[in-house]
Amino acid sequence: MSDLHLSGEEVQRIYANFDAPIVPLDCGLKCAPYNQGGKPFCCDICVAVPTLYRSEWAYVRANTDLWFEWKAESCGATPQEAAEEVAQLQEETPESMILAQCLGPDDCQREFRGLTCRQFPFFPYIDSQGELLGLSYYWEYEDKCWVISNMHLVTVAYIQQFLKAFEIIFAHIPGEVENYQYHSEVMRDEFNQKRRAIPLLHRNGFAYKISTHNERMRRVPVESLPKHGPYKLAARMPFPDEI
Ligand code: SF4
Ligand code: SF4
Repeated sequence: MSDLHLSGEEVQRIYANFDAPIVPLDCGLKCAPYNQGGKPFCCDICVAVPTLYRSEWAYVRANTDLWFEWKAESCGATPQEAAEEVAQLQEETPESMILAQCLGPDDCQREFRGLTCRQFPFFPYIDSQGELLGLSYYWEYEDKCWVISNMHLVTVAYIQQFLKAFEIIFAHIPGEVENYQYHSEVMRDEFNQKRRAIPLLHRNGFAYKISTHNERMRRVPVESLPKHGPYKLAARMPFPDEI
């Protein structure tokens, strides 16, 4: 599926209107101490490889030196390991996207960070009827991303901008609706196996837990959404804010 209809001006507009802080503090300072490399997890190419829509790629390549093509060797892989990793990730990456690499957090140019940077750790959750309900998260990062353990701090402005950005993207790249609907279904299957409910920041402004059996939603206080990994331990300490 191509996204050639997203012009440079449209990419620029989406970037400009999807710029609200995810939480009212620098969450990179919260997670980086738990990453061996000392970088925020989502800016560490050895943890997560960003993808850019092809039209984003055209826009950033024309306007900044921040982005270049991903090189698997950057994380110390041998040529054979790198070739295998490239082949695997390319197979998993939708045709509308490019695997990319940036200069790193010390040299980030925030106005040119990609949509994957802006949306992380969230993805648009779509139910089995095809309705975009709100934001859930990439669960494989539960033990890494501090935001996932602090969803009560996610700003209203961020949620609104996230949803508007994806409404525009879905209008231009219809295949993305199917991709995220499928991703939501995979989450339901995996959480069902673990007998877990799916946490959701609903577009109506409230938090819910979704049953994986029947997709029924139960409204919950956002503060009650679970914490994970080191952040769960830190929250039990006497002075959690100092961790
Ligand atoms: S979004 Fe998550 S992983 Fe990225 S900097 Fe914030 S806490 Fe760290
Ligand atoms: S562009 Fe900036 S926000 Fe995105 S991964 Fe690179 S350093 Fe992180």
